[in-house]
Amino acid sequence: MACLLLTTFVKAQDYGINHAHAHNDYLHEVPFYQAFGLGFGSIEVDVFLVNHELMVAHTPEEITPNRTFQQLYLNPILKEIALNKAGIRPFQLLIDLKNQGEETLRLLQSQLLPYRAYFDRKNNPNAIQIVISGDRPTPSVWSSFDDIFYFDGRFDETYPQALQWRVPLISDSFGRYSRWNGLGKLPANESAKVQNAITKAHQQGKKIRFWASPDTRTSYQTFIQLGVDWLGTDQLTQLSEYLQKRPANLVATHAAYALYQPSYQTDASPKKVKNIILLIGDGMGLAQQYAGFTANHGQLNLFQMRNIGLSKTNSADNYHTDSAAGATAIATGQKTNNRYIGVNTKGDSLATIPEILVTKGIKSGLVVSESITGATPASFYAHQPERSWDRFIFEDLCKSPISLSIGAGRSLLNDSLVQASKNSRLFFNTLQEIPAKLSAKNISVLVEEAEVRPKLKGRGNYLAEAFDKAVGYLKQSPKGFFLMLEGSQIDHGGHGNQLPFIVEEMLDFDQVIGKALAFADEDKETLVVVTADHETGGLTLHDGDFAQGKVEGAFATPDHTATPVMVFAYGPQAQRFAGFYENTAIFKQLLESLR
Ligand SMILES: [Zn+2]
Repeated sequence: MACLLLTTFVKAQDYGINHAHAHNDYLHEVPFYQAFGLGFGSIEVDVFLVNHELMVAHTPEEITPNRTFQQLYLNPILKEIALNKAGIRPFQLLIDLKNQGEETLRLLQSQLLPYRAYFDRKNNPNAIQIVISGDRPTPSVWSSFDDIFYFDGRFDETYPQALQWRVPLISDSFGRYSRWNGLGKLPANESAKVQNAITKAHQQGKKIRFWASPDTRTSYQTFIQLGVDWLGTDQLTQLSEYLQKRPANLVATHAAYALYQPSYQTDASPKKVKNIILLIGDGMGLAQQYAGFTANHGQLNLFQMRNIGLSKTNSADNYHTDSAAGATAIATGQKTNNRYIGVNTKGDSLATIPEILVTKGIKSGLVVSESITGATPASFYAHQPERSWDRFIFEDLCKSPISLSIGAGRSLLNDSLVQASKNSRLFFNTLQEIPAKLSAKNISVLVEEAEVRPKLKGRGNYLAEAFDKAVGYLKQSPKGFFLMLEGSQIDHGGHGNQLPFIVEEMLDFDQVIGKALAFADEDKETLVVVTADHETGGLTLHDGDFAQGKVEGAFATPDHTATPVMVFAYGPQAQRFAGFYENTAIFKQLLESLR
């Protein structure tokens, strides 16, 4: 029996708000409704028997007329039931008897009698479950009470087999096991004691609740890991938010991939650079990188790059940049306003890296995992004061010196553009159509939108394949090449405050970083720079496990943030990227590395 029951206890991944217990619920400004509205699975109320009335209060001194069990709980519950034909969400009402337990319970029984069907769990699994705690009558008299009453168990009590069903949970004081304050780590010896208590309760087929336990995000996370069934709190919104957001904030486990091992032969050497591979993770801050590192079991190709700097990302008109101003700073060396693409704050066109390099015979390529007219790639070829002007941006691409572009955007191509571009540009639909030999004409591969769907929706190996194709093609350029590849959707996961989304995009991007490092080692004249245009989401990480690839975080905003982003460099001239500088300095250092 115990074994069967054990399987009903939840896995750490499955904890929802139905595991939340509102401790001393009546002390909140709005008793019952706040916890019930948030979806709490358990609500606790303290009851005193005074002059044949059930008074709700924490101490006798706090008893106030009108604050009766009927006013604060029974009437609101009946009202909710009356308003919801389909029935209300079942929950546990933990009633803590503060004095004269048996008499109090008799009065409660008579008050509930007309409505007992709503509390009758034996005949209705969706009924509200009443569990009596505090000054409970002795088990010997339990059978004289209505079957709607269950009782809160204690470890130092034993219950006859016939009464086991009346004890759905065991409550205990957390202080018996630990003096932990809920910050940092629960000490191992105390954790073991808590774990033993949980196991003991579960072996008896009962849930467990600790009272007077820490009430922090760290404690919720710890109790979930240990398997505590009821998470008690006085901070209803804090626990509710923690549990509601937990699925989006948690990667419970992840498989690892092997890294490329760089040789470091050319790393930070003063040798001249022939090729540049610039890898931009959109919205990729240090926390996004470290989330990927943790999920990949404590390893990332990116973190093998030894030349590290910090880029200050603010735009000309805002403390936090968007991708337009952020990528324009990198592509042109000038700060501009948010939404501006390849133009200065007055709207004048700025020369982009590909436009400068084409005059030296150096070919440029762009690879993205979104539309090729997205703000980041667009800033390397277009000149428009508004990032959403896709059509104009796409026309700029057709006229641009970009030798090879790979991304979505087929819907923007029309016959007149094909006609107008036919002497200078070829349009293809798939990576496979890219010619083996370097073409005199520029090439744009416009893949299906579905090809660049999020990694979590099954994108597959698109980005790595596009990298291989692009490098295989561009490396034939006698005077060298510049390739900008964007991990475009790390940013989308940040905007959506979805850590699993970010981790999948981050790891997809990191595998391309491994390929870039391998190419640099083989080629010996290639500089690899990895950076971001900005951070997205205000992500922070507060728990993780390298062995499992587990990581848990939280987000501060659905928007971009101002925190500087990392710049990593590998290969000849990589030392140029050390230090703290404006994002515009990346442009300058990239061009100077080619001198
Ligand atoms: Zn964004």
